[in-house]
Amino acid sequence: MPDNPNSCVVVGAGISGLLAARELQEAGWRVTVLDKGRGVGGRMATRRFGGASFDHGAQFFTVRDDRFGEIVDGWLSSGAAAEWSRGFANAEGPRDPDGHPRYRGAEGMTSIPKHLARGLDVRTGERAVKVEQVDAGWTVTCESGGTATGGALLLTAPVPQSLALARSGNYALSDGARRQLEDVTYDPCLAVMALLDRPSPVPEPGGVQIKDEPLDWIGDNAMKGISERPCVTIHAGPGWSREHYEEDEKSITEALLSLAAEQLGADLASATVETSLARWRYSWVTSSHDEPCLVASEDPPLVFCGDGFGQPKVEGAALSGLAAADRLLGRAG
Ligand SMILES: Cc1cc2nc3c(=O)[nH]c(=O)nc-3n(C[C@H](O)[C@H](O)[C@H](O)COP(=O)(O)OP(=O)(O)OC[C@H]3O[C@@H](n4cnc5c(N)ncnc54)[C@H](O)[C@@H]3O)c2cc1C
Repeated sequence: MPDNPNSCVVVGAGISGLLAARELQEAGWRVTVLDKGRGVGGRMATRRFGGASFDHGAQFFTVRDDRFGEIVDGWLSSGAAAEWSRGFANAEGPRDPDGHPRYRGAEGMTSIPKHLARGLDVRTGERAVKVEQVDAGWTVTCESGGTATGGALLLTAPVPQSLALARSGNYALSDGARRQLEDVTYDPCLAVMALLDRPSPVPEPGGVQIKDEPLDWIGDNAMKGISERPCVTIHAGPGWSREHYEEDEKSITEALLSLAAEQLGADLASATVETSLARWRYSWVTSSHDEPCLVASEDPPLVFCGDGFGQPKVEGAALSGLAAADRLLGRAG
């Protein structure tokens, strides 16, 4: 039983879960954040190998909303984030800056979630597998056998995962909520990370934003300012990712290196020292829920949030987490 009605279990330590958790904790709530990952950040992910650092999920983010802008100003002044550029090359070649800042984490995207997680009770390596409604709240059981209890439950994982979790125990989600949640969909993304023995041919400021098939993006993490050694991240387009998702790592890696070399007009294979592949089953949202969060139960509260609600991307996920906290704190109707 939760000892305190002003308490919440947050499943997911991505940007939405962490921002929500901070808002709740600042309002005096007891908050427990569970994440199945080894570290925090979810799709704001940075991986290190061979002395290099790679952002392999989100590459950069932009700011349109004033509330998010104020938060980002805080990250910039605390050194958790930095401006990367004011625009990137596209498939046709370099473009002039458009004056609109693109931000990155200071030492990679995870710098931001790591900054947000400070002072919170975040339990990583804890995969939530069962949710049970108890009289005055919720009990979440993890694969490890550990449990967390709270008066409220906030589910922030990609919606198909949150939906499965919500239905894993004794709680019966209403048909209306279930249908709305089932309408939220995502594209997959195959991401190759390649450590190079020489600077990459990616043009300044270190990104080619193709937004097409078979490639979506090629980023140079050294030019970006997060890696001491030259290395690139290659994102396949959603169609290509879906078609090749289950193939073996070697063939996906070779294919994406060769497609990137073709795009850049330079040899990448001979410069490649070591590679790694990330398979993102849920990357970009293709169909979102209109509202910035979904309240499935008022008493005890069960709220769904994340980039599947309201606007997409890092900014949308951040605003969704804030909206969920507002709802739990009774700040918004
Ligand atoms: C390849 C790729 C490229 C992208 N590029 C950009 C970009 O350039 N710009 C941009 O703005 N956005 C980009 N995005 C999207 C952006 O990363 C996301 O919109 C945003 O980070 C989502 O945050 P979130 O908090 O909603 O979800 P997530 O970051 O997915 O966080 C959810 C968390 O829940 C955890 N979780 C899931 N299930 C469980 C469970 N059962 N138990 C415990 N924990 C669980 C996960 O481990 C994860 O940490 C990209 C995404 C990908 C994958």
